[in-house]
Amino acid sequence: FGNAVSAHPDPIEFTLALIKPDAYPAKKDDILQRIRAEGFTIVKESEVHFSADVAKEFYKEHVGKPFYETLVGWMSSAPIYAMVLSKGGAIKAWRALAGPTNSEKARETSPTSIRAMYGKDGSENAVHGSDSLESAKREIGVVFGHDFAASIEPPVAAASSAAS
Ligand code: UDP
Repeated sequence: FGNAVSAHPDPIEFTLALIKPDAYPAKKDDILQRIRAEGFTIVKESEVHFSADVAKEFYKEHVGKPFYETLVGWMSSAPIYAMVLSKGGAIKAWRALAGPTNSEKARETSPTSIRAMYGKDGSENAVHGSDSLESAKREIGVVFGHDFAASIEPPVAAASSAAS
């Protein structure tokens, strides 16, 4: 109360960020600068090249949609840059920094967002960001392995067994 710093800061989260083929490698340095300026910690980062099978698994929630095959083909067509980002409220914060899905619309409504500045249209939009805790965990597992994803989970089981 009366303090600009919240007494209830957002809990620390992990989220998956990808720099997609239209922006990698050309815009990598600019995008990393934006990420650091917003106070994210990059806890894991690597260039990756999705196989078609990994791209299909990554985007499985979109199976059957008209853009699915093109999206999978595009995302497996060239290397991308994958990162696990962390800070309080990271999932929502990274999607806000990325901006609306469609880069053309983003240029109207969120002109300083990453998709507005570095993306092309409604398909080639520079970056990806997980949309929930559940999808962040799943996507980090698909890209960096399930052991790594499990290693950054809060130790719920350990805490509850210690308390019992
Ligand atoms: N996408 C597309 N056409 C569409 C909608 C989405 O090509 O009409 C692509 C675009 O690259 C988008 C991705 O599919 O980032 C995943 O779509 P989603 O609706 O989950 O958007 P996001 O969560 O990436 O903003």
